[in-house]
Amino acid sequence: MPSATSTAATCAICGHSVTNQPTVPTVHGGVVHITCADRQARGAHRRRTAIATVAGAFILAVLTLAAASGLPGSSLVLLAVLLPIAHVVANWRWWRISGRRLTTRLRLRRW
Ligand SMILES: [Zn+2]
Repeated sequence: MPSATSTAATCAICGHSVTNQPTVPTVHGGVVHITCADRQARGAHRRRTAIATVAGAFILAVLTLAAASGLPGSSLVLLAVLLPIAHVVANWRWWRISGRRLTTRLRLRRW
């Protein structure tokens, strides 16, 4: 079992020394390089984006099939309201982060 001293001296992600390099603390009491944390966060966001995109395409396909199959208008409207809500609930972190990025870009007018 690593001691508190050894965990504080090595990055919890890459395992390399953190001496004289910018770090951030972890919730478990260790530290990580800022570059390692940033790289890991970008990878997680890419995975969430892929999952949200596939789910969105699936919802669009379901709505298209429902409309093509002659589903009654009220049922179609219900699906068109509930499925996007389900998408937002299921992918809440992605929506929150993407919304924050969009508002920041709009505020800074950077595209
Ligand atoms: Zn690292």
